[in-house]
Amino acid sequence: MITMRGFVKIFTYGCQMNDLDTQKMYSMLFKKGWHPTTDTSRADIIILNTCSVRQKAYEKAISNLGRLKKYKERKPSLIVAVMGCVAQQEGENIIKRLPYLDIVLGTHQLHKLPDIIDGESRCKRPIVDTTFDHHILSMDVIPLKRFLTPPHKAYINIMQGCNNFCSYCIVPYVRGREISRDYKQILDEIENLSKNGVKEVFLLGQNVNSYRGGITFPELLKRINDIDGVERIRFTTSHPKDMSDELIECFGKLDKLCNHIHLPFQSGSNSVLKAMNRNYTRQNYLRLIEKLKSVKADMAFSSDVMVGFPNETEQDFLQTMDLVNAVRFDNLYSFKYSPRPGTKALSMVDNVPIIEKQRRLSILQEKQRQIILSNNLARVGNVYDVIVDGISKRDPKAVYGRTTQNSIVNFKGSSEIIGSTVKVKIEKANPNSLTGELADGS
Ligand code: SF4
Repeated sequence: MITMRGFVKIFTYGCQMNDLDTQKMYSMLFKKGWHPTTDTSRADIIILNTCSVRQKAYEKAISNLGRLKKYKERKPSLIVAVMGCVAQQEGENIIKRLPYLDIVLGTHQLHKLPDIIDGESRCKRPIVDTTFDHHILSMDVIPLKRFLTPPHKAYINIMQGCNNFCSYCIVPYVRGREISRDYKQILDEIENLSKNGVKEVFLLGQNVNSYRGGITFPELLKRINDIDGVERIRFTTSHPKDMSDELIECFGKLDKLCNHIHLPFQSGSNSVLKAMNRNYTRQNYLRLIEKLKSVKADMAFSSDVMVGFPNETEQDFLQTMDLVNAVRFDNLYSFKYSPRPGTKALSMVDNVPIIEKQRRLSILQEKQRQIILSNNLARVGNVYDVIVDGISKRDPKAVYGRTTQNSIVNFKGSSEIIGSTVKVKIEKANPNSLTGELADGS
């Protein structure tokens, strides 16, 4: 029995990788007696798990860190920690701006958090550690089941970092170079998860399809597909240049691999892609989409795109629109370009006026809204296998879950079926989801 020592609150920003890191932090601290709280004023430890991929995310993290000052003034024993990409990017500098911070831990050092909170070194606050390691120990930290949300779905780190140096991207600087986790540890973790009721595994890394942890990524997928109890496998993020034919064939051969891929394209213009250092053309990208559709007809796609990269012309933007129209993504994360420190694009003139970036983004997002609705309308009348994730936020008598294509489906049901796989007939298309009802036999 571990004695309860106090409360911890973690604010999480950014991607699924950060969601997983937050589950790990809660788990490590829980084992030491620190219990999660949703009430910030009650917390003894407040952690901001940050993202700095875009300027807006970075500014949000800094501004929220600024707001924590009042809590520290009210309770001087409060421990305030900043983790994640902003911690890695800023290091010691952030202490100069926010001197009440106690701990700044970079992206390779998350595993040290409980010992730092416990240790004598707390007397020598602040503690800053942004070292990059050759083996990232935090990838081997396994979250407790109680922190999996929902409990039948688990994120698994398979690699971290990136070697691609896209000219706009800060990730190689804040997450370091690619380091893959040993495949045996990944398989052990998934086998244990499946024995504990996890049905859906979501493999995470900045560039998962360049995984090299003793076997290839397609081989890793095949071995996970053989694990009893696992029903669905997803992964993110993939780079188009690393989409081998062997990996594409996995979508046709592996019955548990979901009919969905998140494949960022960033721009539909070859000249912009070249300036971004993406190492593929729009033609290559569209060929990949066709190949994926040819191995699995009802494949769904999501992607990331940016408008207003330096020197992006109206013609370039129209090429992006053309690609969006051709692929008809189910989800598209679209952004205005913002310069990031240390990147190659920082030396390019940011010459698309902000008002023009906004115009292009609005046109793109409006088109994408129409495409999603039309994709959803085409699904009305179909029956899908849905894993039920939880009670609907809008209707306590309804539940929601996801199809293998990653569409969210809401339908009448109770908490008893959370975690079950049921058949749902789609009755209605909404702008971002589907509404259905349990089909006969479920
Ligand atoms: S592939 Fe490019 S965009 Fe993705 S993390 Fe690496 S550098 Fe960033």
